[in-house]
Amino acid sequence: MTYGDMRDSLSDDLYLSHHDVEARYASDWSEAPAHLPEVVLRPRTIDDLSSMLSLAQQSGQRLVTQGGRTGLAGGATPQQSEWALTTERMTKILSLDPIGKTITVEAGASLQSIQEAAAEHDLMFPLDLGARGTATAGGITSTNAGGNQVIQYGVTRQLILGLTAVMPDGRIMAQDNHLLKNNAGFDLKQLLIGTEGVLGVVATVTFRLFPRRDHVKTAFCAMADFDGVTSLLHMAGKKLMGLSSFEVLWDDYMSEIISVTGKSEIFDKRHPFTILLECESSTDNDEMEQLLASALEAGILSDAIIATSEAQRAHFWSYRDAIAEILSDMAPNVNFDIGVPITKMKEFTTDIRQELQTAFPTIRQVTFGHIGDGNLHLSCTTGNVADQVPIEDLVFKRATQMGGTITAEHGIGILKKPWLDTCRTADEIAMMRQLKSLLDPAGILNHGRVI
Ligand SMILES: Cc1cc2nc3c(=O)[nH]c(=O)nc-3n(C[C@H](O)[C@H](O)[C@H](O)COP(=O)(O)OP(=O)(O)OC[C@H]3O[C@@H](n4cnc5c(N)ncnc54)[C@H](O)[C@@H]3O)c2cc1C
Repeated sequence: MTYGDMRDSLSDDLYLSHHDVEARYASDWSEAPAHLPEVVLRPRTIDDLSSMLSLAQQSGQRLVTQGGRTGLAGGATPQQSEWALTTERMTKILSLDPIGKTITVEAGASLQSIQEAAAEHDLMFPLDLGARGTATAGGITSTNAGGNQVIQYGVTRQLILGLTAVMPDGRIMAQDNHLLKNNAGFDLKQLLIGTEGVLGVVATVTFRLFPRRDHVKTAFCAMADFDGVTSLLHMAGKKLMGLSSFEVLWDDYMSEIISVTGKSEIFDKRHPFTILLECESSTDNDEMEQLLASALEAGILSDAIIATSEAQRAHFWSYRDAIAEILSDMAPNVNFDIGVPITKMKEFTTDIRQELQTAFPTIRQVTFGHIGDGNLHLSCTTGNVADQVPIEDLVFKRATQMGGTITAEHGIGILKKPWLDTCRTADEIAMMRQLKSLLDPAGILNHGRVI
């Protein structure tokens, strides 16, 4: 749509232009170069969205969809001459079925608002991540977000039953399914999950909810070596029926947390590995205590503390959630979310940390992640933006040589696109391109992301 078409066709309150466009629309949380869009489209309804997309397709105006802009791959950062399309006014919780355990929300609803709506009905939406207050239903769907409880409940894809999307030509693809099983024809909603907004705009999503467990036990465990970490993961998988989180923090992460946030040490001395372990149960049992006692007795654990109150549990999680503060302090940073098979994780982390230190002697690095899911985060900085690409090249090549992936949860976006062919075949990429040109022949949506 041209600027004139927009003024003729859309009411004034559906867009911001020129000096009304605030700086926050210029970038997401990644370090991709920011661009202030000339126009921000602000639909209130699915029909607004549909009109905007058909107008954009007619004129070839490129758009980038923005949810909470907490993405870390540059996907929501506008490129030159792109207009932004924000879901910030589509935030309603549309319905909640406490018996069928489903919730239907508009794309701009925040993750936290979904969690809170579920809790009001004594239910739980299990997807959780540090940016919960700002990340949106549309964003977590489009990136197929992972987070802290994947080990028990799976990634976002496993939590979605239905969705409605607006396709680049303005057509509404309504697959408003609320059933756990539905094999009637193609499952078209999968085209919108994890495809980072390149094939359509998610307008509403129906997620699964789960019974809220009355008893949650959270522990910090200290370990001397990575073999102990994998042994504890194995034991926890066997003995904790409701194992929901297994987050590993390396000693470099603990050093940064303490220096950046001023938090105190967890144990009376620093250990090479600190694990945040959580399990849920419907009964007040002592599975966690028994697991930790056996691991201590077997010499796997060096120390452990179990949270004794909800406040202490929140305090434990604050060490994990403080990554946002560390990343800000490390700017300009390179932030990885690679996947590596658990059997190769020890070799990979030992080698890569050493290789980075040797190649970039002034590097600051932190290592942590959802190790129960084989998902490792590595964030680092040399303070020099020119080092970014060589660092990425080193890490991505090493991860893929070991059978891993360059992104386990944040997506490809703009930033990882040059390395897509290290973990996807030429035929896979060609099929992705065919799908894109079939559904978005004018290339108006999230152009240049992923493929
Ligand atoms: C402190 C912090 C912690 C994080 N922890 C995790 C974590 O543990 N696990 C994890 O997976 N991620 C994590 N992230 C990354 C981020 O929160 C997720 O990628 C999240 O899913 C992005 O949601 P958003 O609404 O902010 O999307 P945005 O950043 O706005 O957009 C992300 C992508 O989705 C597209 N998009 C957004 N909305 C729509 C829509 N309605 N339709 C189509 N496309 C759309 C955008 O175009 C873009 O390509 C973290 C980020 C931060 C800052």
